[in-house]
Parts: sequence; C-alpha cells; structure tokens
Amino acid sequence: MIQTEKFYKFLDNSTSPFYVVKNTSEILDRAGFKCLSFEEPWNLQKAGSYYIKLYDTALFAFRLGKSLSEDMILRIAAAHTDFPSFRIKPNPEMREKGYIRLNTESYGGMVLSSWFDRPLSVSGKVSLRSQHLFKPKEVLVDIKKPLMVIPNLAIHLNRKVNYGVEINKQKDVLPIMGTADEDIHNYFKNHLARHLDVSADDILDYDLFIYNLDKACTVGASDEFICAPRLDDLSSVYALIQGIISQVNDNDIHMICLFDNEEIGNRTKQGSASLFITMLLEKIFQTLGKSRMELYEAVHRSLILSVDVAQAYHPNYGTKFDPTNTAELNKGIAFKIDTAQRYAYDTGAIAILQQLCEEYKIPYQKFVNRSDATAGGTMGPVISTQLPARTVDIGVPLLAMHSAVETMGAKDLDSLIRLMEAFFTAER
Ligand SMILES: [Zn+2]
Repeated sequence: MIQTEKFYKFLDNSTSPFYVVKNTSEILDRAGFKCLSFEEPWNLQKAGSYYIKLYDTALFAFRLGKSLSEDMILRIAAAHTDFPSFRIKPNPEMREKGYIRLNTESYGGMVLSSWFDRPLSVSGKVSLRSQHLFKPKEVLVDIKKPLMVIPNLAIHLNRKVNYGVEINKQKDVLPIMGTADEDIHNYFKNHLARHLDVSADDILDYDLFIYNLDKACTVGASDEFICAPRLDDLSSVYALIQGIISQVNDNDIHMICLFDNEEIGNRTKQGSASLFITMLLEKIFQTLGKSRMELYEAVHRSLILSVDVAQAYHPNYGTKFDPTNTAELNKGIAFKIDTAQRYAYDTGAIAILQQLCEEYKIPYQKFVNRSDATAGGTMGPVISTQLPARTVDIGVPLLAMHSAVETMGAKDLDSLIRLMEAFFTAER
C-alpha cells in the first residue's frame, strides 16, 4: 500500500485519542516493538525497540542505539493524539417535541459552524462494572455507523446567516439522534449497551467523543492537497511513527511522545505537562545501569522536536498573516517562531534542523505570526520546562485548523516523514 493510502487508513480509523493509541500500538507491534508496562520491572536490551501506553490516550515509543556512546543524546519528537470535538455528557438525553437530542460539551477550540449537516458517530472508552472494586472493566468503542447530525437552520429562518451568526455551544449545536414518543430515560446508554452487548446497568461511566465520518481524500487539479478530519495533529503522529520505525542511529536514545490533552492546555496526567516523561526516562536510565546525573547530562545535550501543525497562508485572508514570514502548503516544514515562546524556540536548535533539512534535501520555511496577533499555544514550551533540553516547535502548514475537515499539502506529508527519518538516523 502506498504511503498516502496507509496515512488515510490511519486517519479514518483514529476517531478518538483511544483509537489513535490503539492504531499506533498495532503499527509498532508489526514493526517488532515490545509493549512494556510501567508497573513491572524491565529488562531493556541495547538495539531494542519498546513502547508504553499511558491511560490508553498517550503513548511513548523508544529505541535504544546499538552502542549507546558516552556522549549519547536523546532524540525526542512529540505530537498530540487529541483534537477538537464534542464530548457526550452523562445523562445526555433531551427531548424537544418528538426529537431526541444529546447534551454535549465542546472539547478544545472548535470551528463550530463546520460541524453542521455532517453524519456523525461516536468513539471512545466505556467503563463497566466488574468484580474488582479498584479495577472496573474498560472497553473501547467506535460505533462507525452514522448515528446523529447537527442540522443547520434554513436560510429562510435566518436571512443573516451569511453575515456572521453567533453559535451557542449549549443551545445551537446539540446533535439529534432519533425520534421517539416513549420514555427516553437512558436512551443513549441503552443504545450503547446494545452495541457493546452488555447490560445498560453495567455501564458506570464513559469518555465518548463525537466525530464526523468524512473520509480523508486527495484534492486539487494535480492532487496537491489532502483534505481530512483530524489532520491536527494526526499528520504529525503518523510521521513520528514512520520515523521511529525506520533506521535509527547507533549511539543514541530515540523516542516519540504522543501526548493527550494538548487542545485543553496539556495539564493532565497524560498531557505534556505531566511528570511522566521524566519518570519514564529515569526508569530507562536506571534499567540500563545509568545514574540520574547521567540522564541530566544527556538531557543537556539533547534535542526535542514538538511537532504540531502551523497556520498556513490563506489566500482569501492574506492580511491575517505576517508580511515576511508565512508558511505555504507544499513548501515544506514550518519552523514556528514566537518571541513570547508560545512556540518553543532556540536558535541553535533551529540551526541544527536547517542543517539536517539541507543535508537531506527537505524543504522548510520559517513561520512567525503578525506582531499584532497572538500565537496559539502548543506542547513545546510545556515539554521544555519538564525536560529542559533544546526544544523547537515545527509542523506542516495547515488550512482551516480546528475545522471538522482540514487541508494540508500532499508534498508536506512526505517532507515531514523524511525529516523524522533524518532526525532519528543522521550522524551527529
Ligand atoms: Zn495541534
């Protein structure tokens, strides 16, 4: 299967952070990575490949070099598994005349208008009653079938619709899931129970997201673009996986960190503000017979890439962008620069990347926001305070960021995969 088809399959099947992690672990299994549990002692081998899941929505994969030289560095690349969407509240049923609507809240900064009039389904995790009080059963679910829709209001009832309309999250975007005249108590839970083949009484709680069923596709007169849901940040997740499963350098430790909860500020046990990354590195070093001080020394020599999408120049809204530093589709990887360090920045680290790109003939461009605009936050500054290594924020340029369907350059996917491969293999 060619790379684009594999990428599309990954996107189409990764409908919630739970499935991003599930699909990633399947790719890593096939590539010979060994799944570890943090709760058990490890026996790590040089030249070994390993991964560990964190609460089913974050994942860390690492490969040890064959020799692990005295002056080894950590080559770390991070991306995020989450994306803006609606999350279903507990007791979600709301009746309005004969319609059944679900009560939802929005997760992350959504372009709400993009969610109207699309078939929607549900993906996430359900927690079930078990015999063990401290160990309820947890199952993943992706209903896949079109299950609900958020209909627009007809233009005849809102003549101002094309002049900008306020959309209220509690009132205007609740999806309709059916019609019924009977009692709707537990309507959603019962549907879920039937799908999972369990008793509705056994469903204790759930972490379920609504997703749109649009499939990834190639667009443009010469196939220049990729249009798909969730390109922020699954395009980076996919490229990081391709990087870590290719060749790696003999002397170093290579790691990809796929964090959850970037879209809501990173401050969770599985987000990039978590202490887990330090705990994980300490455990790796201790298992290899190395001291904490050796870890700190290695961190000091290391490089972290925080890989997340960048705002691509939009031809219909040119005045929104910096006069001299814009990122365009198909012109290469954007190095994101912000003097307030909302993107992590270090001139030496940027210079390393430029040398790497030039050596491997990978196009890149420097992106800066307008001086009168504020950059959106990402993982780089957060990771670099947890792990004070040189860190830079980079990513593919993206149009319609946080819309239900986003657009990237087809060539940029190839550039990012090649950059990740170069990052993990290049001689220092
Ligand atoms: Zn992002």
